[in-house]
Amino acid sequence: MKTIGLLGGMSWQSTVGYYQAINYGIKSSLGGLHSAKIAIYSVDFDPIEKLQHNGDWNGTAEILIDAAKNVQAAGADFLLICTNTMHKVAPQIEAAIDIPILHIADATAEVLVKKGVKTVGLLGTAFTMEQDFYKGRLSESYGLTVLVPDKADRAIVHNVIYQELCLGKVLSESKLEYIRIIESLASQGAEAVILGCTEIGMLVTQADTKVMLLDTTSIHAQKAVEYAIK
Ligand code: GLU
Repeated sequence: MKTIGLLGGMSWQSTVGYYQAINYGIKSSLGGLHSAKIAIYSVDFDPIEKLQHNGDWNGTAEILIDAAKNVQAAGADFLLICTNTMHKVAPQIEAAIDIPILHIADATAEVLVKKGVKTVGLLGTAFTMEQDFYKGRLSESYGLTVLVPDKADRAIVHNVIYQELCLGKVLSESKLEYIRIIESLASQGAEAVILGCTEIGMLVTQADTKVMLLDTTSIHAQKAVEYAIK
C-alpha cells in the first residue's frame, strides 16, 4: 500500500472528512484491521485566507510548497491538496516536489464522464466559481459545460464557506439557501451539481435533493484509496 500525503487544514474541518473517508475506504477495500498509511501536514488557514482575499496567490503557493515538501519528506508517495480553491497553485506545487498530485478536478470530472453528465453546476468559493483554473480544466480537458450561480448567489455560497463552514458552523438557513441554489442550477440545465468546496458536504448531502450531487471530498478521498492500493 502506498503512503497517502495530505496537504490539509484548508479548512481543518474538511481534513477531518478526508481522514475518515480514506480510512473507511481502505477498510472496506482490504478488510480486517487495515487502515490507511497517511502523512498529513495541516496548515494554519488564517494567513492563507488573508493572502487569498488580497490576491497574493504567490504568497499562498510559498506556504503550500513548504508544506508539500514536508509531506514528501515524511514518506508520502503522492499528494492530495485537500481543497478545491488551492488547486489554483497546484502547478507551482507540482513543479516543486517529486511526487505526483492527484488533482481534485480530474477525479471529479472522471466520475461525471462515467455517469454521462455533460452539463454540470459548480458551487465553491468565488475563486473556484469565477476563475479558470478549475472550470477551465473541466471544460477543456473533459468537454463539460459548467454553470455557476448568478453574482448574488455566488456571494451567498462564498460567504457561507468562509464565515460558517470553515468555522464548523452548520446552519439550517444556509442549508435551505444552498438547496435553493442547487435546484436553480438544475432548472437551468445542470444534470448534476459539483460540491466544489471540501466543506460543503458538512451542509448538504444527497438526501437533501433529487439533483445529483458530487461531493469533491469523498470523490477525492476515494481516488486516493484506489491509487494507494493499485
Ligand atoms: N475547502 C475549500 C475549497 O475546497 C475552501 C477553503 C479554501 O479556500 O481552501 O475550496
